[in-house]
Amino acid sequence: MRPETAAKLVILDRDGTISVDREDFVKSPDEWEPLPGALEAVARLHRDGWIVALATNQSGIGRGLFDMSTLNAIHAKMNAALARLGGRVDAIFFCPHAPDELCNCRKPLPGLIEQIGARFGVPLKNVPVVGDSLRDLQAAAAAGAEPHLVLTGKAAVLDAADIANVLQQVPGTQVHDNLTAFSEFIMRRAAKDKQPLHDFSDFSNLD
Ligand SMILES: [Mg+2]
Ligand SMILES: [Zn+2]
Repeated sequence: MRPETAAKLVILDRDGTISVDREDFVKSPDEWEPLPGALEAVARLHRDGWIVALATNQSGIGRGLFDMSTLNAIHAKMNAALARLGGRVDAIFFCPHAPDELCNCRKPLPGLIEQIGARFGVPLKNVPVVGDSLRDLQAAAAAGAEPHLVLTGKAAVLDAADIANVLQQVPGTQVHDNLTAFSEFIMRRAAKDKQPLHDFSDFSNLD
């Protein structure tokens, strides 16, 4: 049985995990498009009592491709779409820095994930962190959280050998077809963890 976590917290990447990744960055609300079923999966997690937080690299800000008010408008579009499905994200933590700024929050560094754990007062040990890139998994592992790869976004093109290579680089990574499959997996697991595996109330047949 997995040790109980203090809260049901899940940390999701944004681009390639809940919405379409673009090589040239998502620079406007119009360019932000959900992946099929992803917002429904977030809504189901929310209704099941999960705290859903996003951890997203948004170096487009540091690169001068878009500004904070545009990022806010993108997230307003996402939040409105989620609300229509009865869902929400509880927090969005983003790294606005360009790679050459050498911050500690840009994934694969663990800064964003650690900030989320601190915000919600949740030890990260059993917290699932989901993403479509190696750096999401590396950030999860560096934070002591639980890495999960979804085969969407950047990972949609991986073949079996690529996936094996990822698993070798970040041991313990669990792989799911998409966010729907991931959400079903953790909801099922949480429900199972709630049930005792053994009944220890009767010791009469122990020597
Ligand atoms: Mg991504
Ligand atoms: Zn940063």
